[in-house]
Amino acid sequence: GRETHLRVVLRVRPLTCTETQRGDKQVVHSLGDGTVHVSTARHDATFGFTAVFNAGASQEAVFEGSGVRQLVELAIDGFSCTIFAFGQTGSGKTYTLMGPLAQSETQPVAPGLLGLMQRSFACLLEQSRRRGSDLALSASYLEIYNEQVRDLLSPEPLSSLPLRWSKTRGFYVENQLSIEFESLEAIVSLLLQGPTLTGSQRRQTSAHALNKHSSRSHALLTIHIRNRAVSIRFGEVTSSSPRIHCTCPSKQGTLCFVDLAGSERVKETGSSGQLSIEANNINRSLLALGHCISLLAKPRGKRTHIPYRDSKLTRLLARSLGGSGITLMVACISPSSRCLSETLSTLHYASRAQRVTIRP
Ligand code: ADP
Ligand code: MG
Repeated sequence: GRETHLRVVLRVRPLTCTETQRGDKQVVHSLGDGTVHVSTARHDATFGFTAVFNAGASQEAVFEGSGVRQLVELAIDGFSCTIFAFGQTGSGKTYTLMGPLAQSETQPVAPGLLGLMQRSFACLLEQSRRRGSDLALSASYLEIYNEQVRDLLSPEPLSSLPLRWSKTRGFYVENQLSIEFESLEAIVSLLLQGPTLTGSQRRQTSAHALNKHSSRSHALLTIHIRNRAVSIRFGEVTSSSPRIHCTCPSKQGTLCFVDLAGSERVKETGSSGQLSIEANNINRSLLALGHCISLLAKPRGKRTHIPYRDSKLTRLLARSLGGSGITLMVACISPSSRCLSETLSTLHYASRAQRVTIRP
């Protein structure tokens, strides 16, 4: 119940081969101690975060250093925990959450390169094994594409699901599928392939100038954790006083991973037609998210109405941002001089997000 700040960590990815070959300069430097420095002829600014991971940081270091393990434990204890990756297309959001793309089915990704999601699942399943059959785990996987919510686990062709609100549940998606799982293989294959050919492979992606595998949708994977065994026994069994067995309501937590679509400008990506409609929808929902974050960053007493209803994304993130949830934001940036303006915009966005207070 204590008020705390939204936790924001920053990851700076290495320069890519293309960026190095064309002679891009590195304009972002990590100074240690959670600070980064951006320096060019015209800009000189320092930003501070809970943690900063530089180009050399391993996937494991990011997992351990950003407190994801604690979030998994809190989710088991019944909290709603959200981890969202934010940044321009090509800044490393999907790499951080899921790791690099597998070269082929026969050449899986090396275990050391697996992302925050697979590491969290492993941690969750280990806890689950330790607690016997007390935890019931299930997953749902949604994308928001062109302001439509679609179920990535549905074996049917993708169609839009209604997003509703109720007093008890807040915003929720009607008829969303939720699939139970008990092993790491099951949840990872659900994430990558879905029950048939769904999951991440079905996520809307369009190739454009910045990134061949750029995601054009916001993807939300939610793990529902029901803790069944909260039972208390007390009293000695005697013939006159039988043992009292009291079962408390089960605890339910969630662990949600959000891979936001890139925040690039239409002009820079050379998008036109359908692509520019997509880009406008992406930018509009990220703008709505930014607007909610700015308002939430004001002290509680001075807060006005928070316009969660402005986009599907902000409706679905309402609980994680403003309510009783625990949220970690992983801001991702490229160190290249060519990405400077987007990098500064991500850094400002992330700095603002740090001022948001939450009361889990
Ligand atoms: P985004 O999801 O933000 O659009 P990606 O995660 O797809 O970006 O990353 C873009 C490219 O950069 C990919 O080829 C990815 O493998 C590479 N990349 C991103 N982050 C790292 C990193 N920390 N180390 C090595 N390569 C990375
Ligand atoms: Mg991506």
